[in-house]
Amino acid sequence: MYDSAASQVQQVSDLLDIHDQWDIVKLSSMFNSAVISHILSIRPPDESDMHDKLIWGLNAKNAFDIKFAYAFLNGGTWDSESRCWKVIWTLQVPQRLRLFLWISYKDKLMTNVEHCRRSLCQQSLCHCCHATPETLTHSLRDCKYVKGIWSRLLLPQHFDSFFCCDFRSWLVINVVNAELHPALGIPWHLLFASTL
Ligand SMILES: [Zn+2]
Repeated sequence: MYDSAASQVQQVSDLLDIHDQWDIVKLSSMFNSAVISHILSIRPPDESDMHDKLIWGLNAKNAFDIKFAYAFLNGGTWDSESRCWKVIWTLQVPQRLRLFLWISYKDKLMTNVEHCRRSLCQQSLCHCCHATPETLTHSLRDCKYVKGIWSRLLLPQHFDSFFCCDFRSWLVINVVNAELHPALGIPWHLLFASTL
């Protein structure tokens, strides 16, 4: 819409002529041809019409709903039946840990690599070791300082396999492992989630 003409239009009815039809001259002074042809395809407002009101057209009640909005923004990829969804959200740990696991699984943590990708910083290296870009896998598993923490909890026979798969597989494998830790007597998935 062009600014000078737009300032004279307060409501849609200002774009109608004396016969309550779209005023082509006014429209032409404000919009390009593509917009005008779109407007002309819409029935002009009529005095007998109901008053405008806000509605949310994505559910049957026309009322805004966080669940529908989330599903819409996710492009229909939401799947509450997926295995990892159930595994993480039914884990018997505080909600903040479940949330952290889920955010990690969805690769939504703001690592330095992610900061750089969004031009929020210049340096993508890990704050701890200053040797490797701080990816999700590096910050939660592979950094030498983090490995030091994991190595105190892992049994020697599990050490090699623990550090060898991709991040998502690694997270799920450990979150479903309810084996008791032989020394601590705590199920591994609870220990894992808390340590993570
Ligand atoms: Zn590091």
